Amino acid sequence: MTQINEKISTRIEGDIGFIISDNPPVNALGIAVRQGLVGALEELDADPAVKAIVLYCAGRTFFAGADITEFGKPRQSPTLQDVIAALENSTKPVVAAIHGTALGGGLETALGCAFRVAIPSAKVGLPEINLGLFAGGGGTQRLPRLIGPEKALEHVLSGKPVGAKQALELGIVDAVEDGDPAVIGAAFARRVIDEKIPAVPVRDRDEKLAETRADPSDFDALAKKLTARSKGQLAPQANIDSIRRSFTMGLDEAMAVDAVANRELMAGSQSRALRHLFFAEREAARIPGLPETAKARPVKKAAIIGAGTMGGGIAMCFAGAGIAVTVIDTTQDALDRGLDRVRGNYATSVKRGSIAQAQMDERLALITGATDRAAAADADIVIEAVFEDMDVKKEIFSDLEKRVKPGTILASNTSALDVDEIASVLERPEDFVGMHFFSPANVMKLLEVVVAKHSSPDAILTAMAVGKAIGKVSVWSGNCDGFIGNRMVAKRSAQAERLLQQGAFPQQVDAALTNLGFPMGPLTTNDMSGLDIGYSIRKRRGTPFPIADAIVESGRLGQKTGAGYYRYEPGDRTPHPNPETEALIIATSEKMGIARRDIAEEEMVQRLLFPLINEGARILEEGIALRASDVDLVWINGYGWPRHLGGPMFHADETGLAKIVAKLREMAAETPDDPSLQPAALLTELAEKGQSFAEWQKSRAAA
Ligand code: NAD
Repeated sequence: MTQINEKISTRIEGDIGFIISDNPPVNALGIAVRQGLVGALEELDADPAVKAIVLYCAGRTFFAGADITEFGKPRQSPTLQDVIAALENSTKPVVAAIHGTALGGGLETALGCAFRVAIPSAKVGLPEINLGLFAGGGGTQRLPRLIGPEKALEHVLSGKPVGAKQALELGIVDAVEDGDPAVIGAAFARRVIDEKIPAVPVRDRDEKLAETRADPSDFDALAKKLTARSKGQLAPQANIDSIRRSFTMGLDEAMAVDAVANRELMAGSQSRALRHLFFAEREAARIPGLPETAKARPVKKAAIIGAGTMGGGIAMCFAGAGIAVTVIDTTQDALDRGLDRVRGNYATSVKRGSIAQAQMDERLALITGATDRAAAADADIVIEAVFEDMDVKKEIFSDLEKRVKPGTILASNTSALDVDEIASVLERPEDFVGMHFFSPANVMKLLEVVVAKHSSPDAILTAMAVGKAIGKVSVWSGNCDGFIGNRMVAKRSAQAERLLQQGAFPQQVDAALTNLGFPMGPLTTNDMSGLDIGYSIRKRRGTPFPIADAIVESGRLGQKTGAGYYRYEPGDRTPHPNPETEALIIATSEKMGIARRDIAEEEMVQRLLFPLINEGARILEEGIALRASDVDLVWINGYGWPRHLGGPMFHADETGLAKIVAKLREMAAETPDDPSLQPAALLTELAEKGQSFAEWQKSRAAA
């Protein structure tokens, strides 16, 4: 064995040379690895005894990708492209032997090799689109040369890695064999030598491309179909353009254009937003200030109290993660209705092809029902999702506490009640925590872990870990009215109402945000959830919205009644402008003595977004959220804020905090009855210092 440098070594067995990378934890393609690979190739190329080379990695994975610590730093030679070129120019055929995950630069490195073999559990992919980019190391040029542009396009636009079996079917790998990567690589190299399999570099395999070169209409049609839902996003189009170059240009020319295009994406706001969210998700799991001994308790069995809309959805999340769950309701009737709805949801997924019948059966087998709370006795966590009623919840928790084993986590899915008051009935409130899921709970990714005064570090960590295990993005939240998300959204709702009063119609208010890239406007969203929910909350709080209230009082409750802010055709969810609602809006403005006016779209955008950002700043000031990036995650995963726009606090930084403060001052002066429009102290302070929320977050993390 020869050590090329501290990361890369070589060895020779008979006529096969091996290059081994050992750069834990994920064999990232940092500078030492790149230098070592080039050195190793030179050595084996020069050795006349070597007839083929196997490239593999030690540890848990093949090259997982680029070295993220090198992000944003000047590029050092050899670059990844240099390494791939060296592999491609090797005079001996190179076999990449893949285990673990070969993503991005990892797969591009393998595409520089003449052959690829993988073990069955390996995954490969070019997920750069998730960071607002495309594969910059020639992935979007070599993959279409290997498997054809259509399949390559589908792969890169999905952003999802594929398993070894699918990679074999697609033609990304040449063989899938079980065993040690070195052994399966050597076996393939043996065949290459003995059977004289021609080693054509991927860059020269463009015979498949010739078929589409003459007529790119299939490619164009597919591109259009696959990007129908990515309005306003730059990366999907950039991926399409790059793959298109694979059949309109030579590889080197295409890669030169690619480099410029990817640099532009990298410098742009959308990729910055997506990279921000990538780091935000890693960061959110860290909770500062907990003792080192604190740890999440194991959860093998769950119980849900309440088989309603939320309870059923939460149960589906557990079953989807392979965790047994019991759903408990008061009557057999309510339980049957709830479990029928769960079954119906799964059946729809099977019909749509998103899960197989066998998966549906497996998941249903994990969900049991009961009408007696005794069924929660052996659960490791119990999540309450009954009516939003303090007395009902208190009764449930004081009873549950006596029935469950010591250490069971007791959680409430309340959306608006004070978690400290709920916990006040408990003998051991340290095991209690809020777990605020979003509707539909089996779909929405957000989980606010709402921490009560006495919640123990273990309870908090368990709730965070359970969220992750069932596929949620868990975000720590302090206890206040509305927690993080609903407290902020209330500020947007107030502005939407005001815009209607002052001259806008629902479709204009919604278009202000959908034109920005939001999938749905706030009023369409309200119509979908049902206008009666907000109405009853406003009645309880004594905070009327004259227009919204009048719509509800006229019997229009949204989609479910065929009319709300919009009009709906039976069985169709498409919102149409509603002349009757418009008449009602005009009449209400008149009754309020407001002269209606045209409101420019930019003003609407600012009024819908700046007050909620302001509330976000207050939430940070009060310590209700741990970090600005956590607030962004709440909006991305629970409120439909488009990922490529990064979330409200990211958007604030991009807009400039001084501009937001100035607009808020203007709004506060025009609306003296709403003191919440006064710029928050933190927002004003940062704006005055010329700082961003991101800088503030960084300085606090360092302190
Ligand atoms: P729901 O009315 O659909 O379901 C409530 C269920 O609880 C019903 O099946 C009812 O029979 C059952 N129930 C009532 N009292 C019970 C008791 N004592 N023991 C056992 N079961 C009992 O309500 P939902 O929309 O699922 O909301 C449940 C909770 O989740 C509420 O606290 C709500 O605020 C919260 N939440 C709702 C949403 C949403 O969008 N629907 C979102 C987040 C949180």
